[in-house]
Amino acid sequence: MIEFSLPDHPHRRFNALTGDWILVSPHRAKRPWQGQVEKAQQDTRPPYDPECYLCPGNKRSSGDFNPDYPATYSFVNDFSALMETTPDGGYNDGELFIAESERGICKVICFSPRHDLTVPQMEVEQIKGVIDLWKKEFEDLSKVDFINYIQIFENKGAMNGCSNPHPHGQIWSSMSIPVEPSKENVRQQAYFEKHGKTLLTDYLEKELQKGDRILCQNDHFVALIPFWATWPFEAMIISKKAAQNILAFNDEESLALADIYKKLTVMYDNLFEVSFPYSAGIHQAPTDGKDYPWWHFHMHFYPPLLRSATIRKFMVGYEQLATPQRDVTPETSAQLLRSLPTVHYKQQ
Ligand code: ZN
Repeated sequence: MIEFSLPDHPHRRFNALTGDWILVSPHRAKRPWQGQVEKAQQDTRPPYDPECYLCPGNKRSSGDFNPDYPATYSFVNDFSALMETTPDGGYNDGELFIAESERGICKVICFSPRHDLTVPQMEVEQIKGVIDLWKKEFEDLSKVDFINYIQIFENKGAMNGCSNPHPHGQIWSSMSIPVEPSKENVRQQAYFEKHGKTLLTDYLEKELQKGDRILCQNDHFVALIPFWATWPFEAMIISKKAAQNILAFNDEESLALADIYKKLTVMYDNLFEVSFPYSAGIHQAPTDGKDYPWWHFHMHFYPPLLRSATIRKFMVGYEQLATPQRDVTPETSAQLLRSLPTVHYKQQ
């Protein structure tokens, strides 16, 4: 009898945060790749682009002009997906046709006045400026009575649907708690009620003991590839202390978050020596006025690239119809990322 082993045999892994499962097929990672491997197009952008609607001093489609901002800048999205003025109400035609009105506020956060930078190329102090602005926006939005959840996120790269390369992120805040945080809320609450500790406190402690999925850490945060990662180089940043939201971090901790955000994204850029596309975002407790002692601050990174600067993973076929699937194991991806230089390839 051959004994089952994670690195060799097809298996499904449980996502303890969401309750979902993913399929891992490590034997397929050994098959030869006969597709194209294209060289990355080096992106050369000017520090200021007169056509960019996020650069300082430029006119946006709303007719407003951006101020000549020296560090970060935020404004209400000119094409907001959610609006403050939507009337309450809904549509309810029996059990099968249900809709609810949704109100919210959507903001754009410029990370830097420089059109040509990205997070991994910014100084840690500059990234801390972004985190300080996230904190301010979170605090302000959480005081709005109809806002019950605040989603801070970043879409980087055209491959991930980002319409403008100027370094920026977004905040969509809403009346309802969205699907992914809702799933995590249920799982985290159940774990906390059973064990009296947050799920991610125990998860992080065990991951640090095992070590094989850890990417890097500092005094206050750990970056790792989660056991249940679906995307080839999916990662998480988890705070060492169980914080319900970003406001729980003092200046030193915010600087540590900036530090690990940079370290992880430098690893990403160095992997294929390209500005690595991803969607990233923070999951934190809802802002509906209730207490959420089970919520543990973390940030997800979902990058689409698979094996080169242009070969991406698609979530299609079996993954849309059945279960998400990966070939290369999370442990192998972590090993690969850990082996890279810690200095950005453009500064080496
Ligand atoms: Zn999450």
